Amino acid sequence: MNHPETPTGSQKPAPLNMSEAAEAVRTQFAADHARVAANPSPKAVEELRLAFLGRKGRVQDLIEGLRNVAKEQRPEAGKIVNSVRQDVDGAVTALQERAKAWILNERLNIPQVDVSLPVDDSTPAGALHPVSLMRRVLIREFRRLGFTIYDGPEIDFDFYNFSALNIPESHPARDMQDTFYVAPATGGAFDGQKMLLRTQTSNIQIHAMLAEKPPLRVIAPGRVFRCDSDITHTPMFHQIEGFVVDKGVTFANLKATIDTFLKAIYGRELKTRFRPSFFPFVEPGAEFDVQCTICSGAGCRVCKNTGWLEVGGCGMIHPKVFEAVGYDSEEYSGFAFGFGIDRMAMLKYALPDLRQLFEGDHDFLGQFPVHA
Ligand SMILES: [Zn+2]
Repeated sequence: MNHPETPTGSQKPAPLNMSEAAEAVRTQFAADHARVAANPSPKAVEELRLAFLGRKGRVQDLIEGLRNVAKEQRPEAGKIVNSVRQDVDGAVTALQERAKAWILNERLNIPQVDVSLPVDDSTPAGALHPVSLMRRVLIREFRRLGFTIYDGPEIDFDFYNFSALNIPESHPARDMQDTFYVAPATGGAFDGQKMLLRTQTSNIQIHAMLAEKPPLRVIAPGRVFRCDSDITHTPMFHQIEGFVVDKGVTFANLKATIDTFLKAIYGRELKTRFRPSFFPFVEPGAEFDVQCTICSGAGCRVCKNTGWLEVGGCGMIHPKVFEAVGYDSEEYSGFAFGFGIDRMAMLKYALPDLRQLFEGDHDFLGQFPVHA
């Protein structure tokens, strides 16, 4: 018996049975769909879509196969193929929707935070720098006394830092404050005038008084600069300047103000005192002390057995200062005071060396509270 022969009279490939081919695609799709539907990640859904609906996908193969179908059978085959395409397309679209929910679920499945668990304190919480801490405490206390906060330039004209504060060019007080000078101003109204890094926050007194009319009740915390460095001096340090200008302001008001804020910071039980002193921009002038915060006045190493700690300087604003800013010293009087914020922090936290404040040692700085 001979082998079966190719049907005669036709060189075309045998017509495909599109029903069978379509059924094979459906079966394959059903299996792959079931696998992806169990875990419809966006990646798996997209792979499924490409495998069946992509340019080289299996549905496309069916569509291309239609060319080989006898012309008279083509409409029927086309319907079958189209039905497969629609079913696959519908199923993939449904899976794409589920993939969106899958992403959301993945996010929700991230382990939840149990707020009832004890705090993991292995993460450093950070702390306020003792100078920031003291600055905030001071601002809070002075606000309570009705003071407003004023700011001013760190690089300033000689006029604001010295001349207007009754410290003329040849005044010996200039030697008390070793000054960093910068290049003189060029151009404009201030051409050729000396400029410097302010040696004291008192420059803000002048700026504020030139800008405002009395009554004034101002504090001005800020950085100041002097060529000086040892155990109790750093080239940059922090001062706070305070002043009050109004009708009938007296030395008694000054004493009450200083006494009130020192007690607010160091405690009610500690005494304060005033000693006569000299500053060119006040008359009369004084220095103020607080009873030693370590020994409460009994005498110790920190207070050099005096029982007192020096805090700052103060006095009644000099008429020459009022003259420089155009205030009538017959009508108005005022007081001013200034002290180092760093020194206040040193006394409050019993620090042995001022330079500790500027070394950036985390172990040292970590000991301070987070809130003022
Ligand atoms: Zn002491």
